[in-house]
Amino acid sequence: YDGEAKLCFFDESMETEILWEAKLTEILASIVSGRNQESLFLQYQPIVDMRTRRICGFEALARLKCKDMEMIPPLQFIPIAEKTKLIIPLGNLIIRQAFQFLKQLEDQHVMDCTVSINISALQVIKEGFAEHVIRLMHSMDVNPSCICLELTESIFASNFQEINRVLKTLRSKGVKISVDDFGSGYSSLSRERELYVDELKIDKSFIDKLLFLSDDQAITGDIISMAHKLGHNVVAEGIEHQRQFDYLKRNNCDKAQGFLFSKPLDATDAIALVARNDAHRLFENLFE
Ligand code: C2E
Ligand code: MG
Ligand code: MG
Ligand code: MG
Repeated sequence: YDGEAKLCFFDESMETEILWEAKLTEILASIVSGRNQESLFLQYQPIVDMRTRRICGFEALARLKCKDMEMIPPLQFIPIAEKTKLIIPLGNLIIRQAFQFLKQLEDQHVMDCTVSINISALQVIKEGFAEHVIRLMHSMDVNPSCICLELTESIFASNFQEINRVLKTLRSKGVKISVDDFGSGYSSLSRERELYVDELKIDKSFIDKLLFLSDDQAITGDIISMAHKLGHNVVAEGIEHQRQFDYLKRNNCDKAQGFLFSKPLDATDAIALVARNDAHRLFENLFE
């Protein structure tokens, strides 16, 4: 950048973007007002325990599907939901849907299966968040130890004390907490020491790098062993290739998630898949 003022034109693409944002805001508002709730749904991506080789949980991932429209991915509507603060009521709907999924799993006698729910910073710092989750958990009668809340690492950059207090309350009830996108830039592992969390989810960028780094070049293994020393479980996400998975196995990663195992699935498919868990052999070939 050479210091020269840059002219910014209001061009067609910006106009399209503004219109699209307005449209998304309208859709989100219609969902939280209850007029269009069916357009919000969750898909569930399996998380595999590297020791038992079984599905030990699912990550719930939000999607929008309005009639006559393509499915809208979360990277498009979550930022708008955050900007408009609609993420708070929307997030509550997401938590409720995820709890309903847990009830469905219970109905199918699937126990010991965790559902991880992505939570935005705005939700956590909203007064009464922990109490809301706890109340809903009780009223829907879901097992707290089957709930995991995923917070992105960047949340901890500010409001560190405040957020830790909320997490402490939730963990005292048995809810698990995971740091999403770990390593993507904000917190250091020394700071992690004081974090009230159970699990670190290594950012996909570290998993991607495993494709072209040798074992002694990659630091992912060091992250895993440091996390273990601090008492945290480690999940690797975004695993697409056997080579990445083999490295993670060699380096004692606890859990694995990625297209190598499965894409995010609709609730019925997810339940059908995990019901076959007992066959034990679902992902056996990947472990050889
Ligand atoms: P995330 O929480 O880090 O979720 C993982 C993302 O990686 C998901 O994208 C998932 O579909 C994708 N993924 C999983 N395995 C693979 C793989 O092997 N390869 C590749 N290329 N991608 C993989 P998705 O569903 O598009 O979600 C993107 C982000 O949107 C999430 O990242 C999360 O930050 C946010 N998000 C999704 N659902 C929610 C939600 O309910 N609430 C909030 N606040 N954020 C959400
Ligand atoms: Mg996540
Ligand atoms: Mg992530
Ligand atoms: Mg991510």
